[in-house]
Amino acid sequence: MGIAENILKLKSELAEGVTLVAVSKTKPNDDILAAYEVGQRVFGENKVQELATKYEQLPKDIEWHFIGHLQTNKVKYIASFVDLIHGVDSLKLLKTIDKEGAKANRTINCLLQFHIAEEETKFGLDLNEAKEILGSDEFVSMKNVQVCGVMGMATYTDDEAQIRKEFRQLKNIFNQIKAEFFGENDSFSEISMGMSGDYQLAVQEGSTMVRVGSFIFGQRYYQA
Ligand SMILES: *Cc1c(COP(=O)(O)O)cnc(C)c1O
Repeated sequence: MGIAENILKLKSELAEGVTLVAVSKTKPNDDILAAYEVGQRVFGENKVQELATKYEQLPKDIEWHFIGHLQTNKVKYIASFVDLIHGVDSLKLLKTIDKEGAKANRTINCLLQFHIAEEETKFGLDLNEAKEILGSDEFVSMKNVQVCGVMGMATYTDDEAQIRKEFRQLKNIFNQIKAEFFGENDSFSEISMGMSGDYQLAVQEGSTMVRVGSFIFGQRYYQA
């Protein structure tokens, strides 16, 4: 199937409240435009340089999400245009995003990344670390960063029960943080979970945002 058909199929499958982030990392502009032409506007990238280049070359009404691990010294390259940074997992990174947001005269939307998988290699916070960050005076005084929700990646496994358990854990974390820190504030509303292999389970477990790459664009031939 082609990229346009894949997008349309996914859109028809996803409930209205679920945002589809088309993960275009490693893929050429023509592939992104094929998705754009059938109405897709939200794209995800995990390399700063690649994201900045694509932003310059492609239509300006695309919403760009950064989904990778972001180094503090690279925030400045995307701060003026990025719509959502998914993988924030330290106070230090939030501070930098706040500072660069102020320079760009805008508020930058972020998600806190949680470690929910069994694999050791994946980045992310646990609930206590997140509470420490959100409760800190430093965080409370930030003016140019908005924490909009949570993000996580499940273990890469065929075991559906395991994946479900991890997604459910992320949903629980979201609920606890919302209750404790964002009670009345509707801007904390996103749960970014689900990829090509597990987005259906993720949506069943409460995802509001799925990040789908290979299902749309095909296999990636070099690892990003
Ligand atoms: C690459 C990537 C995806 C998309 O993965 P697919 O399996 O190709 O859908 C989603 N989220 C993150 C964080 C990624 O790095």
